Amino acid sequence: MTEQTPDQQEEEIQAELERLRSQIAQLQEAKRQLEAQLKDSSTTASAPITTSAELEATLRWFLRRVGMILQAEKSVLMLYEPETGELAAQSPALGLTPDEIEIFRVRATEGVSGQVFREGRPIITDDATSDPRTVKENVALLNVRNALTVPLVVERKDAEGMVVEKNNIGVFHVFNKRGNVRFSEEDITLINALARSAASVISSAKLYIAVSDEKRELERTLQGMLAGVLVVDGGGGVRLMNSAAKHMFGVSADDGTGKPLSQVIRDEEVHELIRSCLGGDAEANAELSVYSPEERVYQVQTALLRGEDDDISGVVATFNDITELRSVERMKSEFVSTVSHELRTPLTSIKGFVRTLLDDSEGYYDRETQIEFYRIIDAECDRLVRLISDLLNLSRIESGRALDLVLGEVDLAELIGRVVDSQRSYTNKHEFDVIIQEDLPRIILDRDKIDQVLTNLISNAIKYSPDGGTITVHAREMDDKMVVSVTDQGIGIPEEHIGRLFNRFHRVDSRDSRKQYGTGIGLYLVKHLVEAHRGEVSVESSLGEGSTFTFVVPEDLSPEGSSDTSAAASVQAPAPETAGDGASAEASS
Ligand code: ADP
Repeated sequence: MTEQTPDQQEEEIQAELERLRSQIAQLQEAKRQLEAQLKDSSTTASAPITTSAELEATLRWFLRRVGMILQAEKSVLMLYEPETGELAAQSPALGLTPDEIEIFRVRATEGVSGQVFREGRPIITDDATSDPRTVKENVALLNVRNALTVPLVVERKDAEGMVVEKNNIGVFHVFNKRGNVRFSEEDITLINALARSAASVISSAKLYIAVSDEKRELERTLQGMLAGVLVVDGGGGVRLMNSAAKHMFGVSADDGTGKPLSQVIRDEEVHELIRSCLGGDAEANAELSVYSPEERVYQVQTALLRGEDDDISGVVATFNDITELRSVERMKSEFVSTVSHELRTPLTSIKGFVRTLLDDSEGYYDRETQIEFYRIIDAECDRLVRLISDLLNLSRIESGRALDLVLGEVDLAELIGRVVDSQRSYTNKHEFDVIIQEDLPRIILDRDKIDQVLTNLISNAIKYSPDGGTITVHAREMDDKMVVSVTDQGIGIPEEHIGRLFNRFHRVDSRDSRKQYGTGIGLYLVKHLVEAHRGEVSVESSLGEGSTFTFVVPEDLSPEGSSDTSAAASVQAPAPETAGDGASAEASS
């Protein structure tokens, strides 16, 4: 080694001094930035972060600052996941791609990350590749040369500012110091303070976001509920009303909350119920009718809300709309009396004519009159059989059993002809016009069930055109489907009933309609019978002018002809065509 001259030594000392001066300047700049940063982060912390987007923006800002202050290429936060026992990299991170963030995770027992997390002390890694503590895949994945890793500690302080609890939530890595230098003890001091404030921001923001997400989820659930929910506080003010409740009581969307209940809901019964509940009465389960504008029936349940000292702080009431339920119950009981009447009327008539014929020992009635009597008895028997068959089908559907199809090849033109002929005998006021497309192919369906559909539609057409007119039955083929419609020139159907016409027991409550006998199950069955054929039924009507009922069924429902094998599988094996009307239909199915 050669001796240095005094000049050379002087030069070297000067250079060393220069380096130190520049390092001091760097440190001073870093200190200034750190102070500014701490000031900023305390203001950030005082304005709570309420969304994931805000948290992400704050972290991004924090990571950029850290990168700048420590002159590092990369920095990433890893949070501990108790479910997996792993430390997982969080987005955003500085200098890491989204894929790298996704992949970068280590067990809390492994590597430098695990050690810092477990021991709560920082570690500087000067050479990540050779350091035995590092996880080499991660070093390679993130191209780490050197690193500074500190714990992310959340401190809970008491009123005097004393730290009463420390909770380690993860670690913070800063990788690859620029300029070929190492991380130093000063860097640790700088980063420790930053990491503490980042940890506290993250943990309180995550908690806040989780709570507010849960709150939002609850609110969404409440708003989406079909039942109305009303919460009234101890002073009688509305604290919460979900949209169903607002709809039920005709309250506009932005009204309600904060106002006295009497100003929001006009219904006296509701006030009474809430008042008595707030007064300490037993929690109620009542039924009330509200007119807004038409009558709706609600089942109301109330429950008291109690504060910490067990005082009554409010009441929550839920309203379930049971209008349809009540109306079906009413229709059901009406149905029972209608059916008894419907059974008795033909029986009385049959009995009367049979008795008359039996009593006619003198031969008072000529042959023609007798035949007329027999014809009436025959028709009344048909009516009875039809009714009983409808009832059987109804109970089948109601008990959830499938309407099994007995498939066979059917000549639709012939079937329509037979049904029209049989229905013609019940009226002398109507003309029948049967329009069948030429060369209609033979189709595969359940003859007896389609007979029932046609019989129901044509007998309705007769019934609901009491002044007569033409009844047109039209059958045509369209896109491998058979389209059949029955048109009458009768009383028509009010528009508001169209949507409910195929519901069970539904009958139009107009005078003209109620004059006709009926049970309200015919169209309900038509719909189910057609749907069992994977078809559809629809209606068009004009009040006072007439109605058209149309049903569409696929031409071939057999397993070979069906593209939908699951539907075909529920259908029974094809059977030879059975002759006969709806009566024998039921007997056979
Ligand atoms: P019902 O046994 O009462 O005839 P349906 O289910 O067959 O039962 O029909 C339900 C209601 O639909 C009837 O009560 C009637 O009010 C109305 N309706 C059905 N068909 C017609 C039609 N062709 N013209 C007018 N109203 C009809």
